[in-house]
Amino acid sequence: MMRILSGIQPSGTLTLGNYLGALQRFVELQHQAECFFCVVDLHAWTVQPDPQQLHERTLQLAAMYLACGIDPDQAALFVQSHVSAHAELGWLVQCLTYLGELERMTQFKEKRQGKESVVAGLMTYPALMAADILLYQTTHVPVGEDQKQHLELTRDIAERFNNRYGQTFVIPDPLISDVGARIMSLDDPTKKMSKSNPNSNSYISLLDSPDTILNKCKRAVTDSDKEIRYDWDAKPAISNLIEIHALCSGLTIEAVEALYQGKGYGDFKKGVAESVINRLRPIQERYERIQKENLVQEAFRKGAEKARFVANATLTTVRERMGLVLPF
Ligand code: ATP
Ligand code: MG
Repeated sequence: MMRILSGIQPSGTLTLGNYLGALQRFVELQHQAECFFCVVDLHAWTVQPDPQQLHERTLQLAAMYLACGIDPDQAALFVQSHVSAHAELGWLVQCLTYLGELERMTQFKEKRQGKESVVAGLMTYPALMAADILLYQTTHVPVGEDQKQHLELTRDIAERFNNRYGQTFVIPDPLISDVGARIMSLDDPTKKMSKSNPNSNSYISLLDSPDTILNKCKRAVTDSDKEIRYDWDAKPAISNLIEIHALCSGLTIEAVEALYQGKGYGDFKKGVAESVINRLRPIQERYERIQKENLVQEAFRKGAEKARFVANATLTTVRERMGLVLPF
C-alpha cells in the first residue's frame, strides 16, 4: 500500500495554489493510501515568525485541512512539533548532509535573496524535510514543482544512509500531477503563487470574501493582445487564469477558451472570479463550522498518536544503526 506524507507550513493563510496543487489531491489520496499530513511548524521557524501569529496560523491551517475535506479518521493530521522524532532525526540527517548540497537548493537561494542575514535553519531546512519524510517510510510524496529538488535530496540522503549503515529507509518517489502543479502569482506569472508573499494581491486566499476574489481577479496582470488563449510561452498570465478557471469549474482548458471566444478580458476575469468563488464557498462554510465546533484539537490528538507510533519505530532503528545507545 502506498504511504504518503506531506506537510504545509503555517506561514500564511492557504492560497488557491496550495489547494489546487496540494490539498485537493490529499483529499483524494486519503482513500487510496495511508496518509500522514502535518502542519510543519518547525519549518515555519526558518523565517522567524511572530510567535503569536505562528500559534494562530497553526490552528487555522489545521481547520483548513479539515474544511478542504481531510478526514481525521482516514488520515493522520498532526503538528510536526508534537512528534519529537522529527527534530531528533532532523539533527541526525543534518549530520549526513553536505553543505554543498544545501547551498545548491534553489529555494534557499531564492529565500535568502535581498536579505542581509538569514538563520542557519533556512539552509538546513531540507535536512529536516528529509527527516519528516523518511520517518514514515513514505513511498510517495505529493509535491508541487517547487519541492522536487528537496525530494531529490531526500532520496540521496536515504540511499546514502542505507548504503553506509544498512537498509533502513524506503526511497520515496514524487507524486506530481500535471494540472495545478504550479499556479502562478496574479501579479507576476513568472513567480509561483505563495502564501507568504507580502503582496496580498498576488494570491487568492482560501478565506477571501467573494468581493475580494473579484477585485483580485480584476487586478490580475494580463498580456498585451486581447485574445483568451492557452499558451504558456506567449501568454503566461492569461494561461494561468484559464487554468485556475478550468480547475475550479471542472471544465477543460478548451471549454474555457471556447466560452470566452470573442469576449474581452473583463468578462473573462469575472468568469474566473465566479468559478473560484463557487469552488471556495463550501470550503469556507465548513471552515466556519469547524471553528465553532472546535474540532481541531481532537484531530491533532488522534493524528499525533498515530504518527508517533510509526515515527518512533523508525527512529529507534536509526539510533541503533548510528551507534547511539538506547535509553535503559
Ligand atoms: P511559502 O511561501 O511559505 O513557502 P507556499 O504557498 O509555497 O508557502 P508551502 O507550505 O511551501 O506553501 O507548500 C504547501 C504545498 O503546496 C506543497 O505541496 C507545495 O508543493 C504546494 N504549492 C505551493 N505553492 C503552490 C502553487 N503555486 N501551485 C501549486 N502547488 C503549490
Ligand atoms: Mg513554499
